Amino acid sequence: MGKYKFLKEAILVLGFLIFSPVQAKGPYEYLKEFCKIGERVPGTKSHLQARDFIIRNLQNPEIDSFTVDDVGYYNIYKRFPGKEKIAIAGHWDSDPNCPGANDGGSSVALLLALADTLSRVPSDFGVDLLFFDGEDVDGAALYGSEHFASRCVDNYLFVVVIDMVGDRELKIYKEGNSAKFFPQLVDSIWRIGKEIAPDVFSLQIKYFIKDDHISLIKYGLRAFDVIDFDYPYWDQEEDTIDKCSKESLDIMKKFLLSLIYRNNY
Ligand SMILES: [Zn+2]
Repeated sequence: MGKYKFLKEAILVLGFLIFSPVQAKGPYEYLKEFCKIGERVPGTKSHLQARDFIIRNLQNPEIDSFTVDDVGYYNIYKRFPGKEKIAIAGHWDSDPNCPGANDGGSSVALLLALADTLSRVPSDFGVDLLFFDGEDVDGAALYGSEHFASRCVDNYLFVVVIDMVGDRELKIYKEGNSAKFFPQLVDSIWRIGKEIAPDVFSLQIKYFIKDDHISLIKYGLRAFDVIDFDYPYWDQEEDTIDKCSKESLDIMKKFLLSLIYRNNY
């Protein structure tokens, strides 16, 4: 990255932090509000309430609805246009009998906080924020990402899928499928993570996960999964907000902003 471009980036971000007239909500504040809705199981009333919460907190999002077995699903996209594009994605639904504070909730909280920043400080990249529905149906049906990817005509430099990234003991290993398909990309992204949070990011692979990145890869998108799978409350009733922390979400926000405001890859 050139010196000038780095300076421009630093000034933009600093300017935003110091002179922002209204203090934007952080991801933890969004998570607290989102978790009040409860479970987000497709076909239920609280699922629709969660959908409306996300829509309410975005300016002019695109709603891409579809049905599977007569159940309504809603992908929500917030696009910040640009010539070269990246995307950041997460699912917003939750498993039955699991509040999904970290699983799904942490992704929503971060995507909403990123939307706030992007609406004030444009990136040189186009950035699409993708809220997928129906990931957690029947284990991992990945309905929303499959629906999106099978119709996607955009050419992204890459798509970051974030899932379970708000827990108190945050540790992000390379995910095996991501590293298998895109070893260099994943390595360079994890090195950026290590610069920002050396204790959080590890260059080792620990798990191979079926998550939304699998549908995206299937349709030719350069997608990888950023996930902390060492989370004992995964798919449990105990996946509640007290297992998440403001510090972890702020680290992830910083990491994602550094991907968004970088000038080249
Ligand atoms: Zn998940």
